[in-house]
Amino acid sequence: MPKYRDGDSRSDRRSGPYDGSNKQKHRSRDRDRSDDRRKHRRRSDDLEPCSTFDDMKLKPDLLKGIYAYGFEKPSAIQQRAIRPIVRGRDVIAQSQSGTGKTAVFSISTLQLLDETSREVQALVLSPTRELAEQSQRVIQSLGDFMNVNCHACIGGKSLGQDLKELERGGVQVISGTPGRVYDLIRRNALRMTQLKVMVLDEADEMLNRGFKEQIYDIYRFLPVGCQVVLMSATLPASVLEMTQKFMSDPIQILVKRDELTLEGIRQFFISVEKEEWKFDTLCDLYDTLTITQAVIFCNTRQKVDWLAEKMKENQFTVSAIHGDMDQDTRDKVMDDFRSGTSRVLIATDLWGRGIDVQQVSLVICYDLPSNRELYIHRIGRSGRFGRKGVAINFVRKEDVRLLRDIEQFYSTQIDEMPADVGDLL
Ligand code: ADP
Repeated sequence: MPKYRDGDSRSDRRSGPYDGSNKQKHRSRDRDRSDDRRKHRRRSDDLEPCSTFDDMKLKPDLLKGIYAYGFEKPSAIQQRAIRPIVRGRDVIAQSQSGTGKTAVFSISTLQLLDETSREVQALVLSPTRELAEQSQRVIQSLGDFMNVNCHACIGGKSLGQDLKELERGGVQVISGTPGRVYDLIRRNALRMTQLKVMVLDEADEMLNRGFKEQIYDIYRFLPVGCQVVLMSATLPASVLEMTQKFMSDPIQILVKRDELTLEGIRQFFISVEKEEWKFDTLCDLYDTLTITQAVIFCNTRQKVDWLAEKMKENQFTVSAIHGDMDQDTRDKVMDDFRSGTSRVLIATDLWGRGIDVQQVSLVICYDLPSNRELYIHRIGRSGRFGRKGVAINFVRKEDVRLLRDIEQFYSTQIDEMPADVGDLL
């Protein structure tokens, strides 16, 4: 985001084939957001937690949707973050994996909607197509008793379909990936003038190198006064610093890093000495993997393909997913894994963030992740919403330092894997 300095005015950046075709009123980068005339008035109880959904004073039809979805009591982050968002505040909300952040922005967004309006009023951006679709489904389901239409705009799916849907009107919430969303904005198919809130899920990833420019491009189209909400389990200081440039006096709900690993997720390592030993180690663990459902993370797409192939050659049933696969294949793999038809999934970090499959109780890092944040997200695919989980790291001699670094950084404990690990699942 800070790549563009104030001198880099919006008009400078809008030269191009779409120039002039999109006459929306944008949020100017040059504007000091503290000047924004926000609709809300700050209230002293913005930060008071709400211990029940009833206390949140939500629309009756939304409340009905929440209970029908099976939620009885709000989680800690839901108790603290929903109210300030609904009150119109910019919010940065951090909370451990699987603690219900999706429901935070879904419920808040649904509460903010004017159901009588057919305009797009909320935009949720996610780093992967699978996550954007998952959020779309959660929002639509929680809004089951409301008059709401949430549409997923993601790469790899028909652009024509998105254009048709937006043209028809009535889409009030968009859950999408940045590339497709920006494309639709540029085509003037997605009008942002009535947008009330933009949510960046997995915000640290969205403000990372890969996505930052696209997010900024989209940000320029937000109308003045539009709320910005950031969510993630990991929010490094560099990201928090950056938020000053595009958020207005945000409420920050943060987690200390020594509280980021969940007690319910037991973490272990297996010393494999060298790379060649990993495969046999995994085969030995196969029976444990299938006790419930397991995800095995590799660091590259090629390695995922290679490992899946090799497991199959050795008569093990596994499925695989990564970003080089076509979307139909990705969708099929996701459906099979969500339904439990497949039980062992080999994946890149495409699967590392946000994906919620409650039956996953075991995560294997076949390769250690390349950074500390990814570690938290990977192991957080198990142990969803208070369930038990186990993470097992394959550690070569040269990985020992990295593992100790992770352990120290999060003040957590990663022990050698015990023989009875299956009993912990
Ligand atoms: P996060 O985004 O923090 O990783 P999710 O929003 O995906 O977590 O929630 C994890 C799981 O917990 C999901 O399956 C979700 O349906 C469930 N969940 C969320 N909030 C509640 C709640 N208040 N009561 C019961 N289950 C919940």
